[in-house]
Amino acid sequence: MIHFDNSYARLPDGFFARVRPTPVAAPSLIALNEPLARAMGLDPDWLRGPEGIAMLAGNDLPQGADPIAQAYAGHQFGGFVPQLGDGRAVLLGEVVSPDGQRHDIQLKGCGKTPFSRRGDGRAWVGPVLREYLVSEFMAAMDVPTTRALAAVSTGETVWREAGRPGGVLTRVAASHIRVGTFQFFAVRGNEAALTALTDHVISRHYPTADGPLTLLQQVVARQADTIAQWMGLGFIHGVMNTDNMAISGETIDYGPCAFMDGYHPDTVFSSIDRMGRYAWAQQPQIAVWNLAQFASSLIPLMGEQDSAIEAATKAVHDFAPLYQAAWLRRFGAKLGLVENPQIQPLAEELLTVMARQRADFTRVFAGLTDGTARHEFTDPAPFDAWIRTWCAQGPDRDLIATANPRRIPRNHQIEAAITAASNGDFAPFHRLSVALTNLREERREWADLALAPRPEQVVSQTFC
Ligand code: AMP
Ligand code: MG
Ligand code: MG
Repeated sequence: MIHFDNSYARLPDGFFARVRPTPVAAPSLIALNEPLARAMGLDPDWLRGPEGIAMLAGNDLPQGADPIAQAYAGHQFGGFVPQLGDGRAVLLGEVVSPDGQRHDIQLKGCGKTPFSRRGDGRAWVGPVLREYLVSEFMAAMDVPTTRALAAVSTGETVWREAGRPGGVLTRVAASHIRVGTFQFFAVRGNEAALTALTDHVISRHYPTADGPLTLLQQVVARQADTIAQWMGLGFIHGVMNTDNMAISGETIDYGPCAFMDGYHPDTVFSSIDRMGRYAWAQQPQIAVWNLAQFASSLIPLMGEQDSAIEAATKAVHDFAPLYQAAWLRRFGAKLGLVENPQIQPLAEELLTVMARQRADFTRVFAGLTDGTARHEFTDPAPFDAWIRTWCAQGPDRDLIATANPRRIPRNHQIEAAITAASNGDFAPFHRLSVALTNLREERREWADLALAPRPEQVVSQTFC
């Protein structure tokens, strides 16, 4: 039993299409996120039971659900698409947790909707498990993110390059409202809808904002912080299209995302990102570009147009100092330094030395406290020189340990877990799931998860 309160479904016609998930042949639970279920006030035993699984697979609608597919537009790789929308996802409804937070519960991979263009509306277990692992790791690292409540297999085959086992992810988000949701109404010149959406977003996510300009300023600030956190983990989102940027500031839409092994700022994994538009080092600039699209969508609501354009432009440009401050906090923590003028030169110098030798991003930072970072360099001389200057600043070892995980969702480990899952063995997935959400804990049987891939294990491309 779930108590829904579907505020988005009460917005005017045109924001969404009412649609039911398409039932699947033989649903079976792969994973249930019990801590998240409890935090949301949901009963894990009910979710694990037949009614719960039927809901998580889209076979049965719980009472109070008002399922919809949301409309949105978006810039995909810089090209504007006026009509996108949930083509393979259905928002079942919203729940208000015991702590008062409102969350969307969305099924991803649950069949066609009026917004499906070419696709089949389905997902296969590979991307479902990838999103589950990566989003829950991000949450464990306190990075703003959508969450994974459950993963089910459908008992059906999904056709990609080959036949694959189908899956459905239950995604939880503060909301699924994107930059592209605003663009959808802006491009249609629908000011009434833009106003309704703005009011909805302010009351839901930014209650201290008093209008479109302060909303824009606050979204810019949240995104600056989120992106700085990605950078500090070597995370590459992979598809930072405006329809994949959440207004809440949460990381959303884990498609061909990946964490770097060997560090280089130009790293790209996504097979479809041939120009490197969404490379690691590009992400802050792309965020600004996306936020400029958000700003453009809000300008019609901001009164006299010349001054609106000026104010919105300034708000977008404010990303740079906000991001810089967030970056200094993140990389300062990684180096065990707080508000120290040496953070920037030290971090930049270390990254330069790392990039030249493609030293492992995660292992270098995590190895700063126990002397093992040095082993990540084929020529340790420049690193040795760096470490003397760094040590002179008196870094705080506890801070370093908290900021730098020893384990991250490495591509080769995710791939191995997905391959096993495709053959019906979910044990590697469950092992990763526990190890990547209990980051303070060390177990001997997890030792391999802290290793960089051997050359033959390296995965250099990811697919949506
Ligand atoms: P994404 O790449 O996941 O951000 O999706 C971009 C757009 O394509 C969204 O409108 C999706 O709903 C749609 N889409 C992605 N995969 C599918 C699919 N298998 N079936 C239908 N629509 C899809
Ligand atoms: Mg998307
Ligand atoms: Mg996607």
